[in-house]
Parts: sequence; structure tokens; C-alpha cells
Amino acid sequence: MLGVILYAPKDLRIEARPPITPRPGEVRVEVKAGGICGSDLHYYNHGGTASIRLREPMALGHEVSGVVAELGEGVAGLEVGTRVAVNPSIPCGHCVYCTAGLQNHCMDMRFMGSAMRMPHQQGAFRQSVTIPAQQAVAISEKTSFAAAALAEPLAVCLHAVGMAGLLLGRKVLITGAGPIGCLVTMLARLGGAREIVVTDLNQFPLGIAQKCGATRGIDVGAEPDALASYARSKGHFDVCFEASGSQFALQQALPAMVPQGVVVQLGLGGDFTLPINAIITREVRLIGSFRFHAEFAQAVDLLGSGQLDVRPLLTAEIPLHQAVEAFELANQRDRSMKVQIVF
Ligand code: ZN
Repeated sequence: MLGVILYAPKDLRIEARPPITPRPGEVRVEVKAGGICGSDLHYYNHGGTASIRLREPMALGHEVSGVVAELGEGVAGLEVGTRVAVNPSIPCGHCVYCTAGLQNHCMDMRFMGSAMRMPHQQGAFRQSVTIPAQQAVAISEKTSFAAAALAEPLAVCLHAVGMAGLLLGRKVLITGAGPIGCLVTMLARLGGAREIVVTDLNQFPLGIAQKCGATRGIDVGAEPDALASYARSKGHFDVCFEASGSQFALQQALPAMVPQGVVVQLGLGGDFTLPINAIITREVRLIGSFRFHAEFAQAVDLLGSGQLDVRPLLTAEIPLHQAVEAFELANQRDRSMKVQIVF
């Protein structure tokens, strides 16, 4: 069984690891497709982010799908051969937040491919992963492994859209046209938004955002003041999803919001300086959105419903033995949206 193991920044190795026999309540999944996420790239390029650093070798990856290959004792509802999406978020189930239904805020969260804990929670870029059975969610016959591997980022987006409330008839701004921005664009379109403006610093992802349903794409690299026209009078947008993690994007978006508009902050960033007066005088509601819980099963359902065509996002599928090339390709935002590894 081979895995994609990071030893240090830019030191990614494909190594053999023994498959793990499932214990009671667990299943072993043979992984078929795995999407490279921005957080995987942070580990690969820099060994993590400011506070979360790689301290021991770790398999990367948390966006995967596959086939159940082995059942532990007492597992019901799954069989050998069941095609599944793997939910990488493993809350403890009994802390104060889990019992309150806020599992994304679990005090003892195990998230696959995360260096937050020591020892690290190993990731899912392995030919086989052994996980609690409830983390394996059966997918429909119509759902491809590639689409199923997008269930995790789609769940992140469903959680964010839930924070914003109804989008029917709303004017929506989405800053950042990466996979998250593009999936939110699809959900805004599906939710009946009347206008969807997407901004980015690159033309390539903006082109994909337009295939996903954006009514206008703005290259804020070429036109840094383009949002100013929306800020006149009392603003224009009812809802903003900030998916870039850029201070500049949020600074530009806030004055473009209508009174009591909602800004959902999805992009993780550092410390921002913000136009506080715009937030106060417009009574803007600035809301953070982090991870997901029930939305994972909803994402799998939605992918199976045929209402979302995620194919415009999939810009490359690279075989496992070329995993390093896959990471290098994923680093190129002017030609990559979602790069997946085929196992
Ligand atoms: Zn918990």
C-alpha cells in the first residue's frame, strides 16, 4: 500500500505502508481519487501555516473517495464493494460542543491530514485508509469517484451558505475564485441568486467561475478599483462570501454591501485591518464559517442528485506515482483549479 508522505517542505515521498486491519466499527477503504486542497499545498510548500507546523512525517490529503475493501466487526449499512466518499472530519462525539450539535467545534477533533495534534492525524492520500465506519458515506451509482472526492469542499461551502441564509433573488459577491469560491458560485446559482459577481487576481479561475454560474468575473489584479462602483450610494450586494483569505478582498467588499448585508468569511488569513466604520454604519453582519458536520452527507446527496456539474473544476487527474508533479501543478493558479491524484 503506497502513501503520499510529507517529510518537510517540498520533500514529498511515495512510500509503502502496511494496510491497517479494521477494528470493530471501522472499515478499510481502497482510495480511488484524492483532491489536493489549499491546506495540503501549505504543508507541501511551507510545512504548514503560522501556528500549525509539520513536526513528523505525515500523509497529506483529506478529500478522497474510494471503495470499501474490508469491514470490521459490527459494521452495518456498508458492504465490501460499496463506493464511498470519505468524511475526513472525526469529532469525538461527547464533548460539550459535540453534544450541543456543533461538531465542527469539537474540543478533540481528529481531522485527517492535519498536523494540529501530536502525533499528527495521518491524511488520506494512501491507497488504503482505515476509518470509523460512519466516516464512509455511500455515494450514488451516478457519482464518479472524482466528483465524490469534492464532497468535503462542497460540505465546507454548504455550511457557509447556511450561515448566509436564503440566496433567492439576492445579489451575491464572491471574492476568490478557487475551488471554494467556484463551489459557492454553483450553490448561489442553484439557490436562485439574481446576480453573482466573482473576483480574483487571475483570469483562469474567473473563466471557470463563469462556467459555474457567475454573472460577472472581475480580475482585481487588472482592475483593483472595480468594486468601488458597487460601493456608491448604500452599496449593492446582499451577501458576500469571502473565499480568498485576503485583507484587500475584504476591505474592498465591505463598502459594497447594502445595509444589514451579510459577509461570510471562509478564507483563512492573518490579521486584517478593516474599515470598521463601514461595518458599523451599514450594520454589516460579518460571520466566520469553519468546516462542516451534517453538511457532508448533504454534499454527497447533492452530488448524487445531478443538480451540480462539478466537472469544470477538475483541471487535472494525475496518477499516484506522479504525486509530486501533481502538487507542483496544483501550485499553478493560472492553469489549475482542482488537481486530483488517481490511486
Ligand atoms: Zn467533541
